[in-house]
Amino acid sequence: MLKTHTCGALKLEHVGSTVTLAGWVNRRRDHGGLIFIDLRDRFGMTQVTIDSDQTAAHDVAAQVRGEYVVQVTGKVAARPEGLRNPNLSTGDIEVLAETVTILNTAKTPPFYIAGNADEVDETLRLKYRYLDIRRPRMAQNLVLRHQIVRQIREYFSARDFVEIETPILLKSTPEGARDFVVPSRLRPGEFYALPQSPQQLKQLLMVAGMERYFQIARCFRDEDLRADRQLEFTQLDLEMSFVDADDIRAMIEPLLIELSGAILPHKRIQTLPFPVITYADAVEFYGIDRPDLRFGQRLFNLTDLGAASAFGVFKSAAESGGAIKGVVFPGGNALSRREIDELTDFVKHYDAKGLVWIGVTGEADAAGHYPAESLRSQVTKFLTPAEIDAIVTRSAAKAGDLILIVADKLAVVNQSLANLRLEIGRRAGLIDPNLLAYCWVVDFPLLEYNEDENRWQAVHHPFTSARDEDWARLESDPGSVLAKAYDVVLNGWEIGGGSIRIHRSDLQDRLFTRLGMTPEQTQAQFGHLLEAFQYGAPPHGGIALGIDRLVALFAEATSIRDVIAFPKTAAGTDLMLDSPCPITDAQLAELSIAVRLAKK
Ligand code: ASP
Repeated sequence: MLKTHTCGALKLEHVGSTVTLAGWVNRRRDHGGLIFIDLRDRFGMTQVTIDSDQTAAHDVAAQVRGEYVVQVTGKVAARPEGLRNPNLSTGDIEVLAETVTILNTAKTPPFYIAGNADEVDETLRLKYRYLDIRRPRMAQNLVLRHQIVRQIREYFSARDFVEIETPILLKSTPEGARDFVVPSRLRPGEFYALPQSPQQLKQLLMVAGMERYFQIARCFRDEDLRADRQLEFTQLDLEMSFVDADDIRAMIEPLLIELSGAILPHKRIQTLPFPVITYADAVEFYGIDRPDLRFGQRLFNLTDLGAASAFGVFKSAAESGGAIKGVVFPGGNALSRREIDELTDFVKHYDAKGLVWIGVTGEADAAGHYPAESLRSQVTKFLTPAEIDAIVTRSAAKAGDLILIVADKLAVVNQSLANLRLEIGRRAGLIDPNLLAYCWVVDFPLLEYNEDENRWQAVHHPFTSARDEDWARLESDPGSVLAKAYDVVLNGWEIGGGSIRIHRSDLQDRLFTRLGMTPEQTQAQFGHLLEAFQYGAPPHGGIALGIDRLVALFAEATSIRDVIAFPKTAAGTDLMLDSPCPITDAQLAELSIAVRLAKK
């Protein structure tokens, strides 16, 4: 090794010993007689002091610039009392250099490595990713990712799971997202597809009798990138035989508890065991299937009041089959009109037509009614005393609170209130940053109706089983069929999802038919699976956790790009490699491919 110690290792106990360090020049300060170099490597930073008495070393040190790669040999000395730096693991010592060697020079980097990453334009960071990763925070994120993946591997290895690699060159299937395809040179005109997930292969491994499989699997989905997504991402993928949904949950929950304890020991898991919430309740009380349970403020429902109401907003929502729901802003009666208007604008982003608000200024009277002087609102004049009582009672608002109500189409009501609830959580300071609120969401619908294509489609994927008692309604009432599917949610983020699978050929066939596939299509796309299920497929199920999202949550990173070494931009490009890019005509010819660009 070109060094005896890392730049993070030296302490008072090393004083007097001769050491060699090597790393990058974080900063150089020239005080004439004395030159100071802060030498950085992945492990930390050490102050090197070069006295002008050491003529040769001093001459070299004088030429050194930021990010030069430098090797230093010298003696460890204690720093004088007042000059110690408690923020640095090596802050008690310095190295008095005897020789300084420049291992490589460096151009001035496009941004300051020791600076704050947030202040640098992300485009520049992605173009010079190798410099970005040289920053301690990015490096720490990648180390954390490694620790998490290692702990995952140890966890499953200790429980008789086998890590099995599945192919990256796979077959295109119609269900799910858009495939990335790869042309075959050997079979001109034919294509592989990159896996959207190893779903079918892991199920076939269960038919093969492996019983417990896992993989840290790269998955590819050619989708327009929404906010914080990548075209390729990493999943912890697993599958088990002879299990039901409880068994999968019981396998994953201790893993997440272990990881949380190891990585975020200062944080507290809010509820153990993780609460299990039905999809229907999640949507009813939080407006969304991935509730952030770090705080309360559950939504309340007023839809039943609408039909008979004289208040037009309520009545028209009810009559057009919509919903009326609300949420309480604790202490929100103190908000100014302008602040309330901001909340109205906020819900309009989610297509809500408006926001009904009622401030609770005082208490109920002796009979339990809220007199006009106990409320601040422009709409109470349209409401009967009984309606007002019902609203305040159902909201459970107290004096000083603000009741916020949306009356609209059900999907708009849920979406706008789910987001408004989070906004209230932030504005009212209800979210404890040291809480980890995990939960399971279960009993998802099996199918949803695709209005554009006029057909039913799988909510999770078409290999997910219906609940046993629900199969009977697959044809007669498909929308009411619930699935043996489950998601795991952390602080309002879906971090994983899975299901118990169909393992009988006849049921799988029945589901494909329900999805509108002809026997010929079924055979061409999924014949291998239907056949495999006829050779003794065991009951099985599994789950996949999104590693990028999980690491980002644990690293408290603002974007998953900050926990991926070489991510792509939102436009799907790699700015460092300048990819994607055209290939040569010779390559195209070999693949029997002609490129025909559509006119813009
Ligand atoms: N393959 C599924 C997914 O990628 C996860 C699973 O059902 O295990 O979402």
